[in-house]
Amino acid sequence: MESKELCGVRPNIKDMTLSEIESFILHLGKERYRARQIMKWLYQSGVTSFYEMTNLSKNFRKEIDKLARIGSLVIETIQESKDGTKKILFKLEDGHFIESVVLHEKNHLTLCISTQVGCRMGCRFCLTGRQGLARNLNVSEIVDQITCLRFGIPEGRDIKNIVMMGMGEPLLNYENVLKAIDIITSDVGLGFSKRRITVSTCGIVPMIYQLGKDMCVNLAVSLNATDNETRDHLMPVNRKYPLEELIAACKEYPMPRRRMITFEYILIDSVNDRKEDAVRLSHLMDGIHCKFNLIPFNEFPESDLKKPSKERISKFRDMLIKNNFTATVRPSKGSDILAACGQLSGRARN
Ligand code: SAH
Ligand code: SF4
Repeated sequence: MESKELCGVRPNIKDMTLSEIESFILHLGKERYRARQIMKWLYQSGVTSFYEMTNLSKNFRKEIDKLARIGSLVIETIQESKDGTKKILFKLEDGHFIESVVLHEKNHLTLCISTQVGCRMGCRFCLTGRQGLARNLNVSEIVDQITCLRFGIPEGRDIKNIVMMGMGEPLLNYENVLKAIDIITSDVGLGFSKRRITVSTCGIVPMIYQLGKDMCVNLAVSLNATDNETRDHLMPVNRKYPLEELIAACKEYPMPRRRMITFEYILIDSVNDRKEDAVRLSHLMDGIHCKFNLIPFNEFPESDLKKPSKERISKFRDMLIKNNFTATVRPSKGSDILAACGQLSGRARN
């Protein structure tokens, strides 16, 4: 009987890490190495049915198909910006939508993925934050944003970097994010090196310590202010984890070798882009091996915050450089299709 109901209760095998698939099939009395074969089919061949896994016996394929299923995200739309940035709207099995963005860097592609449907952190400058949190993404929904594009768009195989900077706060969906990274970096999974993965957080301090212990990937922190008053106002998370605690956690974070923590700093006109902010920022970060990613505020209709003038942006950057920091202004990519930082909403738009 292949009823819809049955389909609903069968676990999605793509929610399991390699070691979870191993225990799953050991319970069925099968050999451990079969789990590696299954992973390869899922992530390196992109099969959508157990029956395609031709190095498993026919009986095993039948048996596993009764007990598990291979779920997948569905690409709903792909929008392309004038600068080549692509925004992909995915439909989840329960009807929610999430977005991922493919960005063209100098020599490679970077994929920005989501970790939650919406976000509950309520940062003032962020469109995702405006919609609140619907739910966490499960493991397969995080990984499938990569797998679907690897097999679903012509340039999918050129994706070299993964940044968790789409919708949601990765460190508040910690367990699933960790398992997703396990699959993304597994040699029988998507095979990315940990150095190619960046987790971006608004500053959930205890989870930064935890991430450093569990999985040493690149860390990006959305800073956006240099004093607690301004940061409290822009990012409510700061009331719980103020700047001093956040910076202390960053100092302790064991970055992969020769890598730097990235501080994302959205420049908002007359809010955090003054000369004294640049000076204070330099003092705050004195002695931390870090770089600054300055993001001119991406305006959106629901917000009255403004992007600073080009001159103000350059002055801010130059001040940091003068103080011996690496600071770059991130070109706003994909803003014409609302694919730039903070503009993802998981809503279909024209
Ligand atoms: N929740 C995580 C990751 C997703 S937000 C975090 O906050 O880090 C991804 C990035 O987009 C963050 O660096 C955030 O500061 C930035 N961002 C959000 N809204 C923006 C906007 N309107 N303009 C420019 N950058 C924005
Ligand atoms: Fe959430 Fe990050 Fe947006 Fe803040 S900036 S609301 S943490 S997605």
